[in-house]
Amino acid sequence: MIRRGKEKIQLRYSAPKGIHDILPPDISIWQKTEATAKELFQKYGYQEIRTPIIEHTDIFIRSIGENTDIVEKEMYTFSDRAGRSITLRPEGTASVVRAFIEHNLQNFTSPQKFYYTGPMFRYERPQKGRFRQFYQIGVEAFGERHPTMDAEIITMLCSFMKAIGLEGINFELNSIGCEKCRPDYKNALLLFFKDKLDNFCPDCQRRYSLNPLRILDCKVERCIALRHGSPLIPEHLCDDCSNHFEELKERLRILQMPYTLNPELVRGLDYYTKTTFEATSNHLGSQKAVAAGGRYDKLVEEFGGPATPAIGFAIGMERLITLLMEKTNLLSPVPDCFIATIGKEAELKGLLLAEQLREKGYHVEIHYGGASLKSQLRRADRMDSRFVLIIGDDELRSGKIKWKNLKNKEQGEIEIEDISSILKNNLERY
Ligand code: ATP
Ligand code: MG
Repeated sequence: MIRRGKEKIQLRYSAPKGIHDILPPDISIWQKTEATAKELFQKYGYQEIRTPIIEHTDIFIRSIGENTDIVEKEMYTFSDRAGRSITLRPEGTASVVRAFIEHNLQNFTSPQKFYYTGPMFRYERPQKGRFRQFYQIGVEAFGERHPTMDAEIITMLCSFMKAIGLEGINFELNSIGCEKCRPDYKNALLLFFKDKLDNFCPDCQRRYSLNPLRILDCKVERCIALRHGSPLIPEHLCDDCSNHFEELKERLRILQMPYTLNPELVRGLDYYTKTTFEATSNHLGSQKAVAAGGRYDKLVEEFGGPATPAIGFAIGMERLITLLMEKTNLLSPVPDCFIATIGKEAELKGLLLAEQLREKGYHVEIHYGGASLKSQLRRADRMDSRFVLIIGDDELRSGKIKWKNLKNKEQGEIEIEDISSILKNNLERY
């Protein structure tokens, strides 16, 4: 409530549009997913890297590409107090590449493998599966150009989906060539689209001269229809890219990793070369990509670093969580024990006892003062506590404490020093 003159104004704040809170009990799925990723990625040699949430704007323009949706219309960019242009990161790769070069990480044993988790920011139209602040778990591997690396990273993504219990994920695969074969492909595209250009959406008309590959990524219905029969990149790959692609597919077959070839998979960022891939689900509506990635063999060099091939992917957490929610029954954590107390002396005793039981690994809730025993027990019940201890004057005098198992209604009295054993017995039986 604020006062303006005599007027009282009721303020009701909400998070900015497209930006959401993650609350309990949902948070438990997030934590479990992140923990699974961390544990699994470490088995493949990935270590965590934490880069800042803001970077110099140039870093994103140069890596993602000037004529991409992200740079053209989705970045949160502002000037800091010294007039520098700063941007909230719209994705993770550019920052990891910047850090790789800044700290000369190429000097360490190759390949260098990193994973990160955290929020990304894009000024997009909020809708199902699309937010302005969203979370990604991503990985980046530097220093290895062999297709075995591509196979390993794609398989790792698939193992992760399995480890968190997601089934029915499709892995789409493509190769978008390199600086040698792409000009030829671009020309083939320009030729094909030339006569149809007037019918494309205004964005695609612009893309035609700036970045024709982007047309393949357009989600507008009539552009999708107009693309029908367009030249396909895999048919225009140079020998090097074509061999790389074949060797990758051979390895994925050996690993029994199912995939679908999608010759239109170009991805929305400019830095990709050769392998691109996406993990998609049919349960997400039109925002069906849960994870996406690819090789970016030139980016480190373009950033002024040493020539270093690299590959990575990013998982969109919100879309992943949506899929997990469909099959998870979320439960809030329940206390093992509630300590109800009557009077100040008992309250102090309860406070200390709670600490001792927590040290032994139990989740313990206490009474904070003031309330009657009846209302304390009501609170224990509402929290669904499995066990209650009651300390009052009589208990303090006799040195014995009343206990009650709220699940099977058994109760009794116990010496203070035996509490943890009775708690253990009762919780095991529960
Ligand atoms: P899309 O085609 O869905 O816009 P993208 O090509 O922009 O995806 P990437 O930049 O490759 O996506 O990001 C990797 C993953 O991050 C996506 O597959 C998706 O799961 C997630 N993601 C991207 N943008 C958003 C967003 N605005 N809100 C929620 N998740 C997102
Ligand atoms: Mg996008």
